[in-house]
Amino acid sequence: MIRRITYRAATPETPTAVNWRLRGACTEVDPELMFPSTKQVEIDAAKDVCRRCPVLAQCLKDILAAEGGKDPAARHGIVAGLTPTERRKIWRQSKKDTA
Ligand code: SF4
Repeated sequence: MIRRITYRAATPETPTAVNWRLRGACTEVDPELMFPSTKQVEIDAAKDVCRRCPVLAQCLKDILAAEGGKDPAARHGIVAGLTPTERRKIWRQSKKDTA
């Protein structure tokens, strides 16, 4: 089954993200900024948006739960100040910590 995720700014819609995501700093920037190329300067610009975000903690908790162990290639954009690979690494570490 293919699950389609609709984006509003950079934050994916998930069941727990309905209210807080509207306060995300990424809602105030061009959504394309949160989906950088592989250029470090673009990645850093997206991460800078997350660094000043008032809902970073909620975003991180939600995206880790929503993406789970998904392959980095199936993840998109900078979310919670992290690249797809960084998010997967944190998710895997959290699973090891609770095992
Ligand atoms: S942490 Fe980043 S991706 Fe998440 S809501 Fe804030 S600005 Fe958007």
